[in-house]
Amino acid sequence: MPGCRVRMTSVLLVSALVLAAAPAVRAQARAAGDTVGATRAGMLLEMLAHDSLEGRDTGTRGSAAAARMLAAELARAGLEPAGDSGFFQRVPLAWQTVTLQNGQTRRRYVLLDRPEARDSVPAADRPAAPAVNVVGILRGADPQLRNEAVVVTAHYDHVGIRAAVNGDSIYNGADDNASGTVAVLEVARLLARRAPKRTVVFVLVTGEERGGYGSRWYLEHPVLPLRQTVANLNIEMIGRPDSLAGGLGKAWLTGFDRSTMGAMLREAGIPLVPDPRPEQRFFERSDNIAFARRGVPAHTISSYNLHLDYHRPSDEVRFADPAHMAAVIAAAARAVRLLADGPAPQWAPGDSFGQVAR
Ligand SMILES: [Zn+2]
Repeated sequence: MPGCRVRMTSVLLVSALVLAAAPAVRAQARAAGDTVGATRAGMLLEMLAHDSLEGRDTGTRGSAAAARMLAAELARAGLEPAGDSGFFQRVPLAWQTVTLQNGQTRRRYVLLDRPEARDSVPAADRPAAPAVNVVGILRGADPQLRNEAVVVTAHYDHVGIRAAVNGDSIYNGADDNASGTVAVLEVARLLARRAPKRTVVFVLVTGEERGGYGSRWYLEHPVLPLRQTVANLNIEMIGRPDSLAGGLGKAWLTGFDRSTMGAMLREAGIPLVPDPRPEQRFFERSDNIAFARRGVPAHTISSYNLHLDYHRPSDEVRFADPAHMAAVIAAAARAVRLLADGPAPQWAPGDSFGQVAR
């Protein structure tokens, strides 16, 4: 469709525009010592949070365009495709109209039981574009441990186009969660330079903002069985520094003491501190919780500082700090390598998630 082509052209133009703007990003990055990492993080963030992707709402053309970009980046990093259609893992969703207690009706997504079921859904109840997770793997090098997996996740969907605030109706979601998505792409690229012992599965999930559909589907259709999945590390909102985590380049881990993962990372000198705001219940507010409920030790890295642009059109790239992102990405890459090469994390004694049979 012509409209669609215009949008894709503008996505491609962004890389050229970003390259032109790179000196400012580079200057900022030099101060933090990781020029290449920050420049790349800034460029990828610009592409994913660009207006042409229309806020990446699940099941929209903007979201599908984002998924194509992500698949291309995972291929470039040297990963093997591990979806059911190349890098894409189709997440079959259909619209359903529900009546609320007050008599009003509301449309929401329901998860179908298999991708082909989408064909029998009336056109009006199908999402505008197929919803997909984007999945790539890096096979482990150790003959035994390669049968175990570490799963690295971030949701790439956001809330789309909504009510305008100050004339802007595109909710770009630069911090939430283009930033975490960029981190997963970069961790994949860094890890691929030297294969770790365990297999690492990289999953960019859809549907988080609408109820965690993408991670639910992955857990029903994992690349390696959950019994062989030793850990999940999720990355969410690392676009800006958080003074409670130590500022530039520092981030926190949700549920730090609920498994041995927090202590493992601390002992390795990886700069991740316990979540400073446990009252916000962030451990339960991202895709890691779906893995935890299935018994997999699962935590989220974040540096969300409760900024006021959360779920507003002003969650824009210009408020993100690429030098900060590059430093957190470097820490996340070290964390994933440790999880893939070191002992498997265990739930703390007595933790309810430790009782779940996988
Ligand atoms: Zn989010």
